Amino acid sequence: MSLRKLFNFDFFLNLHLIFKPGHIVPDFQVERLIDLTGILQNHPVEGIIFDIDQTILPFGSDEVSAENREFLRHLQTEYRCCILSNFPPLAERIKRIESIEKQVGIEVIAAAQKKPAAAAFQTALDYLQTEPQKTLMVGDRILTDITGGKNAGLKTVLIPPIDKSTDPFFTVRFPRYFEDKYLKTLQLCYPFKKRLK
Ligand SMILES: [Mg+2]
Repeated sequence: MSLRKLFNFDFFLNLHLIFKPGHIVPDFQVERLIDLTGILQNHPVEGIIFDIDQTILPFGSDEVSAENREFLRHLQTEYRCCILSNFPPLAERIKRIESIEKQVGIEVIAAAQKKPAAAAFQTALDYLQTEPQKTLMVGDRILTDITGGKNAGLKTVLIPPIDKSTDPFFTVRFPRYFEDKYLKTLQLCYPFKKRLK
C-alpha cells in the first residue's frame, strides 16, 4: 500500500489554503447534526457531503447514535447525500466504514485524493451530480472540511466534535487547538458575516 493512501500528503500540498482567511471561516455553524434543518429550510440545497469522525460519530466508535442515524436516513428522502472521509484503507477501518454505511444508509466515497484537495470534493460532487453552490460540506475540521470545501466552491457547515476526548493527539487534537484559535482570531478581526451574505 502506498504511503499516499495512509498519510494525508494532500493536506501539505494544499497548505496555501490556510492563508486565505475567507476559506477558514465556515458559512454556517451548528451545534448538532439535526440543527442542519434550519439551514436547509432557508437555502437552496440539493446535496450534502458529510465527514465521518466527530461529525457523524466519535473517533474509534462503531455505533452511530439513534438521533444521528434517524436524522441522516430522513435527510435522504429529500437530499442527495454522501460521506467523504480521509480514513486510511486498512482492513479494520474498512469494516468500520461498511458498518457505518449500513447504519445510516449513506455511501462513503473513496476519493483518490484526500481532503482538503479539490479533487476529493469533485469526486463527491460527481457522485451526487449536484452543483457546488447547491451542496453543503458538513464537518468538524477547519483545515480539511471547511478550507477544502470552500476552495471547491461548496457551502460549508462547521460542527463541534462529538467527543473531543476521542481525538487522536498528534493528528487531530494538536492541530485542532490551533484551528480553533485561528478561527476565533479571524472572526474577531474581520466582519466575515457581511461578506458571506
Ligand atoms: Mg472529522
